[in-house]
Amino acid sequence: MALTLYNSLSRNKEKFVPIEPGRVHMYVCGPTVYDYPHIGHAKSYIAFDILNRYLRFSGYRVRYVQNITDVGHLLDSGEDRILRGAEREKIEPMELVERYTAAYFRAMDALHVLRPDISPHAAAHVPEQIELVENLLERGFAYVVNGSVYFDVEKWPAYGKLSGRRIDDQQAGARLEVNPEKRHPADFALWKKAEPEHLMQWNSPWGRGFPGWHIECSTMAMKYLGETIDIHGGGMENKFPHHDCEIAQSEAATGKPFAKYWIHNNMVLVDGVKMSKSLGNFTTISEALNKFTGEQLRFFILQTHYRSPVDFTDAAVSAAAQGLERLRGTRQKLEDRLAHSVKESGDAPIEWLAQFRQRFIEAMDDDLNTSLAIGVLFDFSREINKLLDSEEPASVSVLRQAKELLETLAGTVLGLPLTATERGMSAAPFIELLIELRNSFRHERNWSRSDWVRDELQSRGVVLEDGKESTLWRFEKI
Ligand SMILES: [Zn+2]
Repeated sequence: MALTLYNSLSRNKEKFVPIEPGRVHMYVCGPTVYDYPHIGHAKSYIAFDILNRYLRFSGYRVRYVQNITDVGHLLDSGEDRILRGAEREKIEPMELVERYTAAYFRAMDALHVLRPDISPHAAAHVPEQIELVENLLERGFAYVVNGSVYFDVEKWPAYGKLSGRRIDDQQAGARLEVNPEKRHPADFALWKKAEPEHLMQWNSPWGRGFPGWHIECSTMAMKYLGETIDIHGGGMENKFPHHDCEIAQSEAATGKPFAKYWIHNNMVLVDGVKMSKSLGNFTTISEALNKFTGEQLRFFILQTHYRSPVDFTDAAVSAAAQGLERLRGTRQKLEDRLAHSVKESGDAPIEWLAQFRQRFIEAMDDDLNTSLAIGVLFDFSREINKLLDSEEPASVSVLRQAKELLETLAGTVLGLPLTATERGMSAAPFIELLIELRNSFRHERNWSRSDWVRDELQSRGVVLEDGKESTLWRFEKI
């Protein structure tokens, strides 16, 4: 069997065949860096991290590009998210971008999400975006009105092919007041005229302005990966309009298919409702990391297939955490036994190990079925425990190969390190103990000692907040 992926474009599971044998060019829509990332981001980027890891494990050379949106992504109110954030924090827009780009990567590191090969910023690619808009104007797919440029959806009849929405349906469903500058309500902005007070603006052939949100992804995907890329990924909620707009403007400009496979991940729910910033029902990754380790959160997310929604509750993460501990326990037992084993034998391939490896690969080949793959790891773990408990001592070779296989499948492919050094142990009881100690110093009016405890915790990323009744603590936001 070979890797099959559900392609949103064909609405079918398809065998994965890259354009160039052995190489994969993959683009995933990245975060808009105006606030802390939440669990919804975790699910999305873990899903694509699994794809990235599995492609590499399968022997492909991958170039993975994931953009950083730092201009042009507007709220329904028409306000730029970055400008809204900069106003909220009373800092420069680019200061905000730096702050939350760093926060995003720290959160992803904690979740063992490998960094993309290229993380291009939209604001650093304005000339390229202008070029693409000029190309669309030359080809007659766009028009200029009063300093703004719009894509003319009626000139590109395939518009909406990814989401399956037809242009005519969109007229009735338009939520917002129709912009009188547009020829058709479904036309979308490629370039927007900026008012003089708008903080982020650039020179263009059409006057001062800024790029629309969709154009950045087409521009940067094509710049770094070519006119037709193998895989384009993103959240399901971005199928329309974002991805349909990306397809329209890219394919209109080049006359070639933009992406061969469109992969979409499902969302995180809270009580059946989508977790999102706009609904205010979100848990930031940093808040979740106060309660759970990155591996526990990741394991919890991977227990659900990427195309299914996942309900986020503390109880569900705690239950998942126990499963992860079982795998860790098995790995530890193998290590302990290896330290005391002497029964040597050759390193011949071992049939039952190969079978587990094969079952794991089949699960992953089936549209990255991580929940099934984890099930295989549990079976594997049970089998190893049986071996360890049996009267007949296992040979060093079997133990070593079993340990290597478990570490490779869990650690390398699923990004779940099982090693003792990375074993997740909650810091909470120790922090609480230190807070008690500090309180006793305060009680004795030993301010220098109590401040010392607070400062030492702070230097390790733990912030204390003294309330009237008690002292609360949190990890410095990441
Ligand atoms: Zn995008």
